[in-house]
Amino acid sequence: MADDDIPFEHNFDPKADEVQQVSPLIRRVLAPNPGPFTFTGTCTYIVGRGELAIVDPGPDNAEHVQALIEATKGERVANILVTHTHRDHAPASRALQAATGAAIVGCRPYEPRHANAQAAGLDAAHDTDYRPARVLSEGDTVEGPGFTLEAIATPGHASNHLAFALREENALFSGDHVMAWSTSIVAPPDGSMNDYMASLEKLRDRSETIYWPGHGGPVREPQRYLRALIHHRHQRETAILTRIKAGDTLIPEMVERIYEGLDARLKGAAALSVLAHLEDLVARGVVRADGPPRLATHYTPA
Ligand SMILES: [Zn+2]
Repeated sequence: MADDDIPFEHNFDPKADEVQQVSPLIRRVLAPNPGPFTFTGTCTYIVGRGELAIVDPGPDNAEHVQALIEATKGERVANILVTHTHRDHAPASRALQAATGAAIVGCRPYEPRHANAQAAGLDAAHDTDYRPARVLSEGDTVEGPGFTLEAIATPGHASNHLAFALREENALFSGDHVMAWSTSIVAPPDGSMNDYMASLEKLRDRSETIYWPGHGGPVREPQRYLRALIHHRHQRETAILTRIKAGDTLIPEMVERIYEGLDARLKGAAALSVLAHLEDLVARGVVRADGPPRLATHYTPA
């Protein structure tokens, strides 16, 4: 099944660690960590003038931290905000804090959803050393001169994921929850399709007019884009149900048929995405599983 029902924007390739003023209050610095899951790299945002907040400092990369320090020379970094604890977003918070004295605020630290997640290596994507001075919850704000950032709980891609609304520009830092270049990966056990869909619907009902994501360029007309993302997931769910009714019981069989021609490096992520849908379908009683929903579980129509 193609993703061409979603108006993706792939035209985005600024030079790594160059500072770009993208709006009156926002500067963007692309981290040098391109890859199949990070697109051209992680986008770090500098908010304000004089006294600053930095959103998503990025991976553990000394050059990137140095670029952020140089970009903010003569100004004071007061707060470092983190949308979620994936390793391409949070680890630079420590080096940046050491260099600037800023407070780390943002999402809660990662906690495995299942006791066996750590043993199974399923939390390898998370920065388990992340230690915020202040954990933000829904509606909490971080202020600076001329700007207010408001935390919006958006679990799904990660269970601790937050978006940050920049009230003065009616903009939203959407992290990895909504990105213009690709759909988000929703990988159980930390990722949850049910939460992800609820978070999409929550943002759809808000009024922000532009999103600044964790990877790639801005999402323009976000409400329209969110409707396309929601529609896409409903279609994917239908495709999975169709495969199960056709006799497929295992996730790899479904992936082969549903994601024809997919880059081999992304097949593991596609399998986890199908698992996320199946976990939700089993919870809703639409699909039956012969054990807890896992990659090797057998699925049949309920
Ligand atoms: Zn992420």
